[in-house]
Amino acid sequence: MAKKLPKQLALLDEDMCTGCEACVSICPVDCIDTLEGHHHALVMQFCSIDLPRCIGCTLCAQVCPWDCITMVPTNEMVRQTKYADQVAVK
Ligand code: SF4
Ligand code: SF4
Repeated sequence: MAKKLPKQLALLDEDMCTGCEACVSICPVDCIDTLEGHHHALVMQFCSIDLPRCIGCTLCAQVCPWDCITMVPTNEMVRQTKYADQVAVK
């Protein structure tokens, strides 16, 4: 049976992320990871979200102190070529 996609997905602005990891610890499905090799707060692009695993719970967007995470309707995400492959039902 095809996986049912959530209504919205978390989109992380990697350029603004400071790597505080607040979102990493709160995600109930552990789909946010720190990027390997970026262990200094001044280095941007600290975290990434595994979109196929995101359930759209919004917790990460609520806790991010820098508002780097935006909830985007899944339909819009699918239309953006950059994310289409990640969101496609496998
Ligand atoms: S919306 Fe929820 S499931 Fe998706 S990345 Fe954020 S905390 Fe994780
Ligand atoms: S809560 Fe925001 S600033 Fe902190 S690691 Fe997550 S996306 Fe980056």
